[in-house]
This record gives sequence, structure tokens and C-alpha cells, in this order.
Amino acid sequence: MRPMNDHDDSKSQAPTSHSSRPWRSLDEMEPSPIDEPRHEFPPPPSADGFEFTRRAWLEGAAAGLAMAGVAGCARDRQDKILGYTTQPVDVVPGRPRHFATSMEIDGLGTGLIVETHEGRPTKIEGNPDHPSSLGATSPFEQAWILDLYDPDRAKSVRECGGAASWQGFVARFSAPRADRGAGLRFLCDPTSSSMIHELVAAVRRRHPESRVTWMPARSDAVRDGARIAFGSDVCPQWDLSHARTLLALDWDMADASPGMLPLSRQIADGRRHRDRMNRLYVVEPALTPTGTLADHRIRRTLEGVCSFSRAVVAALAAELPSSAEGSSSLLARVRALDIAPDDRALSEVIARDLVNARGAAVILPGPRLPADVHALVHLANDWLGSRHSYAIDPPIPVDPSALGLEALRAELERGAVDTLVVLAHNPVYSAPGDLDLGRHFQRAREVVYLASHENETATLASWVVPAAHGLETWGDLRAHDGTSSVIQPLIEPLFGGKSVAEVLAVFSGDAASSPHDLVRGWFRRAYGPGDSDRFGEALRRGIVSSTAFLRRQVELDARALLGALERETHRKRPEARAIEVAFEARSKVFDGRYANNPWLQELPCPMTKITWGNAAALSPATAKRLGLATGDVVTFVLDERDATGPVVIAPGHADDAFTIPLGYGRKGEERIARDVGFSAAPLRRAMSPWSAHGVVLRKTGRREDLALTQRHHGLFGRDIVKVISTNESEAPEASREAEASLYTPFPAGTGQQWAMSIDLSACSGCSACMVACQAENNVMTVGKENVLVAREMHWIRIDTYFTGPAEEPRAVNQPMLCQHCEKAPCEYVCPVNATEHSPDGLNEMVYNRCIGTRFCSNNCPYKVRRFNWFHWSRAAQGNDGLIRLQRNPEVTVRDRGVMEKCTYCVQRIRTTELRARVEGRSVADGEITPACAQACPTRAIVFGSIADHASAVSRAHADARSFAVLAELGTVPRTRYLAKIENPNPELRR
Ligand code: SF4
Ligand code: SF4
Repeated sequence: MRPMNDHDDSKSQAPTSHSSRPWRSLDEMEPSPIDEPRHEFPPPPSADGFEFTRRAWLEGAAAGLAMAGVAGCARDRQDKILGYTTQPVDVVPGRPRHFATSMEIDGLGTGLIVETHEGRPTKIEGNPDHPSSLGATSPFEQAWILDLYDPDRAKSVRECGGAASWQGFVARFSAPRADRGAGLRFLCDPTSSSMIHELVAAVRRRHPESRVTWMPARSDAVRDGARIAFGSDVCPQWDLSHARTLLALDWDMADASPGMLPLSRQIADGRRHRDRMNRLYVVEPALTPTGTLADHRIRRTLEGVCSFSRAVVAALAAELPSSAEGSSSLLARVRALDIAPDDRALSEVIARDLVNARGAAVILPGPRLPADVHALVHLANDWLGSRHSYAIDPPIPVDPSALGLEALRAELERGAVDTLVVLAHNPVYSAPGDLDLGRHFQRAREVVYLASHENETATLASWVVPAAHGLETWGDLRAHDGTSSVIQPLIEPLFGGKSVAEVLAVFSGDAASSPHDLVRGWFRRAYGPGDSDRFGEALRRGIVSSTAFLRRQVELDARALLGALERETHRKRPEARAIEVAFEARSKVFDGRYANNPWLQELPCPMTKITWGNAAALSPATAKRLGLATGDVVTFVLDERDATGPVVIAPGHADDAFTIPLGYGRKGEERIARDVGFSAAPLRRAMSPWSAHGVVLRKTGRREDLALTQRHHGLFGRDIVKVISTNESEAPEASREAEASLYTPFPAGTGQQWAMSIDLSACSGCSACMVACQAENNVMTVGKENVLVAREMHWIRIDTYFTGPAEEPRAVNQPMLCQHCEKAPCEYVCPVNATEHSPDGLNEMVYNRCIGTRFCSNNCPYKVRRFNWFHWSRAAQGNDGLIRLQRNPEVTVRDRGVMEKCTYCVQRIRTTELRARVEGRSVADGEITPACAQACPTRAIVFGSIADHASAVSRAHADARSFAVLAELGTVPRTRYLAKIENPNPELRR
């Protein structure tokens, strides 16, 4: 991308036009970032295909199968089922119950509604009343339910490798210490839980010389930047509902951070209407979901994003009248900033656009940027008069008495720690490599660890206590805006797990209190007399009413900002063209804590489409310069520490840089996670946890097959996505619907006629819908070996298409699921009528008729049908039946040899229809929400009946942007799409 006046005609793109734009799949990019496309359907399995799978499982290599279970051949199986002898009063078998609770990510809570069937939690949805959810979820919340039933969870208390008991643990650690806690140290994850902070205070009262270390949070730079800018501990907040011009600096709305779900919705809501579109600029190293929505995306290394941020702030200062804004010395200093020539022209255009939208413009800094850059962005937002950024008290309290992680390491090194109590998730694995925590832990006389799994930290601990899953215990959390919520258990701890609160209570001398006692005690102290009703209401709604923090009046601290400016200006920069390695913990397995979850392992990375593992992403030009191809294995070396893994060429990545997802390459006893991908932790430094410079690259000469999904699913050379621009005056081109047909029209108009519409302007590709569908519909995982031969089972996938040069592509995400065609090509070719049409327009699968010819799949132009090559659903047999507890009893569990695909969540349709019939009414518009639509943070998916002409889906189908994919084939799909709208700045040519 370059400013118009800097335009090189020889490289220009075709004019922005939905009809002439060459939207292509990843496979078709020039230069091609990946190898030859594979056939969309692989050859049939070899005779020994099953043998291979079984052997691989036995070797522990096919991690997916460890949880998916060994594929057996026998169909017949008999289980005993027992009815209740005494039926619980409020449990009606077959009728699900729903409870509100919260999930902690990055120390903050996201509100959930959990569905349970006869006492077993089966499905998670967002809580519409909770400010961090608004009813939506990310893939993490959706997949969290499976972690509950993970057979690899830590199961028993042990001491020095031998069996021990909770009672023994309490006896050992509940007594007061003679040293007043001088040798007692705690290592905790940051949390907003008021109860935990109360308990920490109680422990410190009992052991005054003990200290607590909080693990670094991803939001530390956000907190420090606000402290610099405003001179006090405040937490910046954003409200983007009326923002017209947005600049995202390495800020991704699909980031798992709490508070991102509502922001995703606000941004998407501003991009649905051609006449009132927001304009989104994104500056980032690797393409992210936010980058795919951008009207202008600027690729820079992480260091380059810092330079660009300075350039924009300087350009803004130049646009402002000298007398008008803030301290004139600050303004003068900012104007005099040294700007990189590459950034100058572009930053000036963007700054002008931001100033033109003053009052409705906002700059969003990502958590990987340094604190000083955050401080400068606060200054810029203040200049912009942004009503969209404000401050509240920090929901995660600042603990002034805390010991820093490096100070703790120093104490460990000099042998000053007698008992180290580790309540953080898995610090030995996830802490930056230069801290070498594993080695230093061994200097403590004893290490007590609250373990979710027998992982890297557990192997070094003298005492291991199994951790309770968040759905098994009581607690409390605050949302990103400070709203308080109560965590309530949905099930008794499956393996006798304990919570952080229970372990702290032991050290505080209150071991006798149950988790419920602890939370009730905290609630009573927090909310005073009459708390019972309020507690009941908090459990019902999932929030404690009126507890959001008030906006704080804050003033910029000009002197501190000048200091930040000087530091940022004089910060030592890496040498030009020095390789940068950036780290990310955004999607999939986070920092490794979700690595044993097969749903998340098999979920394609939203942008690279890699499943089962990670790879270092780099740009096509850098790959060419370094002589690398996708799948080449390289070693990164930094300060005598190294990491070895494959690379993947990623369109739109910044040059001279790599991006490595964290959380892989695990070495504990977790069978799913173990040896999947590689760990980048050795390359991380505590002082600069998100990027490393001066990394040396060594080729190994080896190659690794990456289980990429997109190369199986490209619809090559077809006009399958449409994009229009706000700069164009004409309406979007109509779908090329087939005019003639041999078949009679579908008899629409009798009763409800179900249909769907998906807005490509709103879909970020976050993939929450994929996990939601998997959880709702008992969709199985198949493991890396089977993804490699295109046997993944997802009923909905996110295709990403690119246009423009591979270096600077623009992207569109297209959720692709069964289109429920009125003239479905699959139905005509099934020899046994296993797939046929329902009167209300559903394309149905009758599993027990299916004989597995796969003719239907062959004839489906959308490639959305999935064949069960093996007994994926027999998972439970390999795992003591535990995984089976998650399954949705409303959905058939498919066996080997049948075809399956999206049903529009027919179980939800029929349940709602029945309820309406019993109540003597018809189904209201919006009453049925498929799982994918329910999870979607941006409300990109709309479902309903087109027989109701006023329904949301009818209105969407009637929109000028509506089109059907491959309409020219005459399939008449019930699922239609709304063309993506782009709002480019006329001053910039793409
Ligand atoms: Fe994310 Fe799916 Fe919604 Fe797209 S449709 S924004 S991928 S949840
Ligand atoms: Fe899956 Fe239901 Fe969405 Fe279809 S409508 S993709 S079955 S969640």
C-alpha cells in the first residue's frame, strides 16, 4: 500500500470492482505461498490405513486419537443404563438446565451460560447479561467444556512422587511457621478475584514475611502505559460503538483478552451499511482477523509498528493548531520526532483522516507494544478528543507488596526460598526462557504445585495437588469493566481437584472452610447485610448488578509523557534487516494451557489454517531471500538457547520477521499436547517477552508436513466471494442465478422455511463458530495424520480468500457450511435416499440409511460433507467413558462409514417448534439460534424463516448485497452471503 501520490502504475491493481477483482484461494496466490493444491478428496484409505492409525496411537504419536479413542471395528455394544431410584426434584430427564458462571482468561472473567443434562455440563454459551460476553464467546470458552472431561487431568495428591492425601497436605501446611513466612513464597497468575486477594492478604497476616509473585500478564504494558500517561493506576477502556475512523496498532479484536468480544461486535456493527461505514486501518506484523477486515492494512515488524505509532502521533501533532492542545512543549517535542522515511507519507494520510473524524476517531494499541507506545497513544487519543477511550480503576488490583518474577528467581538462586507454592498455571513451561525457572525451582527446599495436569512444572514439584476445573468450584471474577460475577460449580470435582482459594485458605489457617463458605464469606463482607438475595440474583444472572467501575476523570501527565517520548525516541533499535521473531498467544492454545484440548488443536489457525502444531510464519519475500519453503525445519538461536520448528509462508507477513505461536512443544504427560509443534519459550526474554532480535537462523535440511486445511478446500477459479466498495456508485452485481432448471421449484410457502445469511463484512474469521458447532453437534476430532489426508470432520469451516500480491494481500473470510440447497446435487445421487429434503427446506441426512458410497460428497460443489472413515465416536472406550459425558444427547453420535454435515442445528429447530406447539403459538423470529450464530462475536450469521417476509433473514436475503455461492449451478442455496463492503481512503491506493 502506498499514498496515491506515490503510486507506481506498473504495479497497480485492477480498479476496485467486485466483478473484475481476482479473489483467489491461498493456493492460487502468486508467488504461490504453498505447494500444489491437493485433490479435495484424498484417495481411499490403504488397506493398512487402520493399522497405521492404531499403531500410531500406541506409539503415542497420533495425539488426536488419544482423546478420540482407538477406532474399533465392532458396531454392536451393550451398556447397562440405570434409572433414578429417587428422582431429584428439579431434574427432568431429557430436559437441559442452564446455569450462569464465569471463565477466567488473563485474570478477568467472561460470563457464561452452561447447559447441563442430568448434572453433566455439555455446552457453553456466552451470557448476554455479562459485559465481557454479550452472549458471544471465543473458541476458548467454547472448548473449555472439553477440558473438564480431559482424561489427562491431574487426579491425585502426591508427595515426592508417592501417593498422599489432601488431609496430609492440610496437616503439613496449615500450621503457623516459625520463620513467620520468611522462606515462604507464592507464585500466582494475575487475577481480578477479590476473594483471592482477600485470601492472599490473610496468608500474609499469618505469615508476615511471606511474599507473593504475580506472573506477568499480557496486559502489563497496557497497565504501565496508562500509569505513565495518567500518573496513576487506571485501566483504559474503549467504546467503539460510534467510532468512524479506527487505527489498530498490533491490536486484534479476535485476541482472547476479555473485553474483546463486545469490541468485535462494535467494530462489525460499524461495517454493515455502505452509507455509514467506519474506516479501519490496521498496522501489524502477521495477518490477523482484524487485518482481514481492514480497509487498509500496513504490514510492519513489531518494532516497525512502534515506529509507525510514533510517526502517526507526530503527524497528528502537525495537524493540530499549536495553541489548542495540551502542553505546547509536548506538542513541539512530538512534532520534532524523527520519522522513518517509509512511514512518513502513509502516517500523514492516516493522521489527516483521523483528524477529519475528530471526536469519532480512535487509536487502539495492542498489548504487545511497549508501555511508552501505549502512553503516546493515550496522548494521541486525547488530542483526537476521542469519546471512545476512557479510564476506570484497574479490575486486576495492583499489589504494591508483590515480589517481581526476576526478584523471585534471584531469591531462588541464592537459596532463600524454603517453600515455593506455585498456583500459576505452568510457569516452568511458559515463562520466558532467560528466566530458566525450571532450574531455579530446584533450589527451593520444596515446591508445592496446584496442577491442572502432570505437566512440566509438576515433574519438578515435591507436592502436587490436582486443580479443580473452573466448572467444578466456587469463586468470583471481575469483567473488563469491573463488573463482578460469582463462579458457581456445575459438577462435583471429577478428580477431587482443589481451587486456588482452597490452597490459600490452608496457608491462611482456614482449611476447614469449603469453597462455598469462602465465596459466601467474601460476598457478605463485600455487599453487607441483605446479601442473600443479592447472592441469589448474582447466581441467576451471572453478574452482581451495578458493580461496573465508574469512569474516572484523569488528566494526562505531560511531564511523564515527555519522559516516555524521550525513552521511546532513544530506545535501542535493532539493526536494519536484523531478523525479528515475534511471539503470539492469541488463538488456539493460548500460552499452552489449552494445548491438551483436541478441539483447539484441530481448529485451523484462523489465518495460516494450520492444525495440530505451530510454525514460524514469514513473508514470501523473506522466504525467497532465505531460501525457505513451507514445511522447511529451521533452528532459531538466541543467546545459546534455541528452538527448532517448521516455517510457513504467510501472505501479508512483514519482511525480515517471523511470528511464532506460543503454547506448543509440550513435554509433560498430556497425551494430546505432548510433542505437538515446538516451543518458542527458550527464545523469549523477560525484558522483551513479545519479540526477540538478533536471532540467528540455521537450516536443518529437514522438512515437516504441516496439517493445513485450506489447501484441501480451495474452490479454484470460481466467483465465490463478492466485495464492494463505498467508493463505487453501482449496486453489487447480482448473483448469476441459473435461469433454467429441469427440476420443479421447491414448494416453499408451507409453514416455516429455514434459511441463513452470513455477512462477509462482519466475519473476522475468528473461528468461534467452528468450535461451537463441534461442541453442539458431537463433531469428532481425527488427529494430524487424518487432517493431512483431508479427513477432518468440521461441519463448518472458514475459508480465507486473498486478492492482490501475496506480499500485501487483502483478505475475505467466508464461513462455509452445508448450503441447504433447494435443488441439492447431493440428494439426486444418493442411491438409498440417505440425504433428502424436509418440507421446511432442510437438506437432511438419515444416518442409518447411509451406506457410505460418498456419491453425495462427490456431487457437492461446496465440499461440506464429511465422511466417517473410522469410529471416531468410540472415543470413550479409550478414555474410561469420560469424553462421552460432554456429548449432546440431542444429537445422534455418528458411527463409522456414514456421511455427515451441517443440519442447521436441526435439534434446536425441532425443540423450539415443539415448545411453540405446546404453547399454542408459532415460532417467533430470532427464537431459534444455531450454535454457530449464537457464538459469533460479530453477529455475522443470521438464521430464521424466509416464509416470514419480515424476518431478519428475509431482510438479509432481500438486501442488494445478498448473493449465493456458485449460484450459476442452479443449486438455489438457502444459505446466502452478504458481499463484503470496503471503505478505502480515496487518498490511498491499494
Ligand atoms: Fe468468527 Fe464464525 Fe462469526 Fe466469522 S462467522 S466472526 S469466524 S464466529
Ligand atoms: Fe454447525 Fe448448526 Fe452452524 Fe450448521 S447451523 S454449521 S450444524 S452450528
